[in-house]
Amino acid sequence: MTLNQAGTGLMRAMRIEEARGPLRQREITIPAPNADEVLIRVSACGVCRTDLHIRDGELAPHSLPLIPGHEVVGTVARTGSAVTRWHIGQRVGVPWLASTCRACAYCLGDRENLCDSAAFTGLDRDGGYAQYMVAKADYCVDLPVQYDDLHVAPMLCAGLIGYRAYAMLHDDVRRIGIYGFGAAAHIITQVACHRGQEVFALTRDGDFRSQRFALSLGARWAGDSSKPPPLALDAALIFAPVGGLVPAALAAVRKGGHVICAGIHMSNIPAFPYALLWGERCVKSVANLTRQDALAYFAFAARHRIETTPVPFRLDEANDALEALRQGAFDGAAVLLP
Ligand SMILES: [Zn+2]
Ligand SMILES: [Zn+2]
Repeated sequence: MTLNQAGTGLMRAMRIEEARGPLRQREITIPAPNADEVLIRVSACGVCRTDLHIRDGELAPHSLPLIPGHEVVGTVARTGSAVTRWHIGQRVGVPWLASTCRACAYCLGDRENLCDSAAFTGLDRDGGYAQYMVAKADYCVDLPVQYDDLHVAPMLCAGLIGYRAYAMLHDDVRRIGIYGFGAAAHIITQVACHRGQEVFALTRDGDFRSQRFALSLGARWAGDSSKPPPLALDAALIFAPVGGLVPAALAAVRKGGHVICAGIHMSNIPAFPYALLWGERCVKSVANLTRQDALAYFAFAARHRIETTPVPFRLDEANDALEALRQGAFDGAAVLLP
């Protein structure tokens, strides 16, 4: 990795080059930023389940090759001619939302996460499984100084989208069920505990390691998702990509309770009796994030200590990290260190 005086050079990157094929390590030219972009020297990039969906073809990139990765932490190495917000050497984060049109009804209505022509990091644009990347300056986010690069990386998707899902719950919610105890759950459990709420963690049956992990982070109870929790829940967040959890969660929440599906991809939801939805229960999905979500989450994380559990991998171990994520081989969040 060398950035010569002209600001160009070569970098290592892990790329998806064929549908459902493994990522390939390549030496490629360091990209140059456009006027409204910054070039970032990547120091850490979280590995998200969405990267696995992209690699597996469940979410199709518009073009290949593609560098995945949308939980990127790094320092600004070059700025485009129109960039005033960031300076060289400054630390920035790059989340999933890469750009929006700023003109559609969603953008004008504070719902840029639903923008008709949004682009996403590591799906529509190259992401952070590389030593350098370029990003739109206006969509980079400031990171709280209390967290180092390794520990803050998982917050950029698991934290932000998890927080958006969590923020959809009403303020009077006390008992929250969390289905699937991965990167997002391990952050949001701590947020809920800071707010005095009780977390009930529901994992794959017999996954005692994840259940112990949930309890260690403050969950009141942890158990198998195929059985009902010991008390009626006020709301549920589903982070696992398993459609069968939707009727299970509806059966576990009280009247008026919300079930929020926070993943970008989920297997089919099986048919279920209307009685499970009756009583003004509600099923809702969460899509992407807004820049306001990033401001709100990082303001919270600056005030309340959130202990992420990063599992570091080298950049050239990206395939191993994705496989470990698929197998549920670790607690917390995998992070690549280029
Ligand atoms: Zn828009
Ligand atoms: Zn993600």
